[in-house]
Amino acid sequence: APHTIGFIGLGNMGAPMAANLVKAGHTVRGFDMDPNAVARAAEAGVGTAASVADAVSGAAIVITMLPMGRHVRAVLTGEDEGSSSNGGGAFAAAAPGTLFIDCSTIDVETARALAATADAAGLSMLDAPVSGGVPGAEAATLALMVGGPDDAFRRAEPVLAAMGRAVIHTGPAGNGQAAKICNNMMAGIQMLGVAEAFTLADRLGLDPARLFEVASQASGQCWSVTAYCPVPGMVPTAPSSRGYTGGFASALMLKDLKLAQQAAATSGATTPLGGLAEALYALFCGQGHGAVDFSGIIRMIERSRS
Ligand code: NAD
Repeated sequence: APHTIGFIGLGNMGAPMAANLVKAGHTVRGFDMDPNAVARAAEAGVGTAASVADAVSGAAIVITMLPMGRHVRAVLTGEDEGSSSNGGGAFAAAAPGTLFIDCSTIDVETARALAATADAAGLSMLDAPVSGGVPGAEAATLALMVGGPDDAFRRAEPVLAAMGRAVIHTGPAGNGQAAKICNNMMAGIQMLGVAEAFTLADRLGLDPARLFEVASQASGQCWSVTAYCPVPGMVPTAPSSRGYTGGFASALMLKDLKLAQQAAATSGATTPLGGLAEALYALFCGQGHGAVDFSGIIRMIERSRS
């Protein structure tokens, strides 16, 4: 059934996601603190709201797609920045039973704390971070990892399905964020391993096409080889084959690796390779390559010699 949906955060991801909800027949009331973002979303058919409270008013479901935990906290609770302009935050403006879905990638602790606050206020909340980037947001082919109670998940699933091709319930509050950072930590570590191995192969005079052929069918096989090989020309559709553009920016990989290390510290997990991956992506981004696809880190590894 069509819903009235408040959508807060109409940036690179939020605007196309909101547009896909409109295409699916929902009424969307979009808000962003940047008026240009609101205007761009309106061009794509998204209804506009004048404030957080305006976006929430009359909405059965409210979706947030914001940069970081502190932004989500500010918008939902009115604490921190934005408190003066949004008059107490989205939770205070919502009707009882309103379902909040945060699609931003944020720290697990904040996600769990906000879900508890929502619960205490008679509201429902899910964390539903996404994977698939801007192309996935535009094509409605995102993967959504959802943490929160069963009844809220059942309410949200048909709505989330309009923005993605896979909607996976990964457990209680915070477990969507947990799944996202664990997956991306694996991807970051694997990419570095693949980049090192192809660099060693080159020094040894081994043709990368032959190593690609072997690793695709042997125990080195992983997504960073078969779908996303960092050596140009191995996988025609990989970002490496178009100058390391149009994929998953290194700055976003660094963000997720930082969130993983933060979660490891607070939960007592030991993740030394995750820590090393974070340090290496911080170096790469610090050299000015934050916008480069994360497979581009092979160029930093190739340049180094011992
Ligand atoms: P973005 O910076 O393009 O958009 C964020 C929007 O939030 C901006 O338009 C900003 O004006 C708005 N905003 C910030 N604070 C606000 C406030 N207090 N009130 C109202 N609006 C506010 O970011 P994005 O690329 O759309 O990413 C959003 C989230 O999705 C991030 O958590 C990111 O890590 C995650 N993500 C991004 C990608 C990607 O490829 N871009 C992929 C997967 C996940």
